[in-house]
Amino acid sequence: MTAPTIIIGAGLAGWTTVRELRKLEPTTPLLLITADSGDFYAKPSLSNALQQKRAPAQLVTTLAAKMAETHNLRVLAHTRVLAIDPVARTLRSTQGEFHYRQLVLATGAQPIRLPLAGDAADQVQSINSLDDFSVFYQRLTNADQAGTAPTAGGVPLDPQPSHEHPARHVLIMGAGLIGCEFANDLAGAGYRVSVVDPSNGPMTALLPAPASAQLQQALGDLGVRWHFGATVKAVNWAPTGSPDPAGAAPASGPASRPTPVTQHSGALQVELSNGQLARVDIVLSAIGLRSNLELAQAGGLVCERGIVVDATLRTSSPGIYALGDSAQYASGLWGATPEAAAAPVAGGRTLPYVMPIMSAARALAATLAGTPTAVVFPLMPVAIKTPALPIVVAAPAPGTPGQWHNAEPGQWQFMDEQQQVRGFVLTGKQTARRAEHARLVLGQRAASTISHP
Ligand SMILES: Cc1cc2nc3c(=O)[nH]c(=O)nc-3n(C[C@H](O)[C@H](O)[C@H](O)COP(=O)(O)OP(=O)(O)OC[C@H]3O[C@@H](n4cnc5c(N)ncnc54)[C@H](O)[C@@H]3O)c2cc1C
Repeated sequence: MTAPTIIIGAGLAGWTTVRELRKLEPTTPLLLITADSGDFYAKPSLSNALQQKRAPAQLVTTLAAKMAETHNLRVLAHTRVLAIDPVARTLRSTQGEFHYRQLVLATGAQPIRLPLAGDAADQVQSINSLDDFSVFYQRLTNADQAGTAPTAGGVPLDPQPSHEHPARHVLIMGAGLIGCEFANDLAGAGYRVSVVDPSNGPMTALLPAPASAQLQQALGDLGVRWHFGATVKAVNWAPTGSPDPAGAAPASGPASRPTPVTQHSGALQVELSNGQLARVDIVLSAIGLRSNLELAQAGGLVCERGIVVDATLRTSSPGIYALGDSAQYASGLWGATPEAAAAPVAGGRTLPYVMPIMSAARALAATLAGTPTAVVFPLMPVAIKTPALPIVVAAPAPGTPGQWHNAEPGQWQFMDEQQQVRGFVLTGKQTARRAEHARLVLGQRAASTISHP
């Protein structure tokens, strides 16, 4: 019997590859192995579910069994792949060993975790899956009201009296894209939100300073409290009904040492690097993701920030491919030509967004079906889900020399040294003009490709 093509991972990358492959090969043996339930959901919906009043179960659009039936494949859910053997073309999983003809690594990424002090440091949560969101949702909707009172002593993080903010208080670590989306969703749904970030504004890595300031203002108007130039240093359980003990001391003092707490309220006491303190109900870390590399590395595949793939999504090992958040693409530049190098190329980029997955899955399906096909990324503007200030970003490639220019209110263009537009940011009503701006960038890209082959 022919060994199947095996796909590891049931995220957007795994399932989109299945869908695209089935358009080309309706019947070849296909097996999807995934550590989670395999149910299909759109991950971006995790950061705007609250305002839409959608509970975790409502985010599942198709159950794994239905996906398996529709796409004519076998799904092994709740099954972790433990090791791959590229020479024998086998993999070992919690459900036994399997032979593969071709293997697709769609294993995603995992949240970066910072080492924090405090006896409740393990309570810090991240959200990168439906399961994570379910845990968060449970804690959010069950959180203890006792945590809403500001701390006594130290410098209170949120100086407003609790009766003005009866809702749960979530402290978000990180004012990047995901942190801002959750801040908007939580604040819009009536929760108290504090955001802590070492930079001096929200989304500074993606936005020009005035656009970042607009977002800061818009989310601030919604009730989000910003704490820039600071990081979270320690997270401890807050004791029941008593003022903070050692936690009220300055940051340089004994505050970062865990205080023995015999009884706690369920609330958390967070200490920032600048000495500020807060009682909150939940600490949500949104400081970034790191590609899942363990399987690939242990199997001897070339990895850097992601699993290194060539233009056809092939890893350094024959018959093994990767895409999605786990992959490091040969070219992260939109408009990469089909003639791009066939060998794995180091130094490319991870592209942890939905649109690159769609392009990559189409190309990979063709390759898996027998026609090696290079992925061509279109210009991929990202719509940030901050309804308080809608934003569309088409970021220039990292390291592109140039500057942001404010063309009109709510509209910025990134001009390179030849005064060509390499990216744009649109806010508010200007977001309706994304197609027009994309055409502008693409036109210039085509021109520069011709003059600088
Ligand atoms: C809150 C949030 C909001 C977002 N919003 C947007 C947005 O608005 N626009 C946008 O473009 N992008 C957005 N993104 C990013 C986008 O959702 C991701 O890039 C995309 O979903 C990644 O899909 P993936 O399949 O590569 O990885 P994942 O969804 O992480 O899937 C990985 C899969 O691999 C499985 N797996 C891992 N290791 C193993 C193993 N050893 N054995 C078996 N199975 C394994 C996991 O169980 C999982 O099924 C958002 C991300 C988050 C977290």
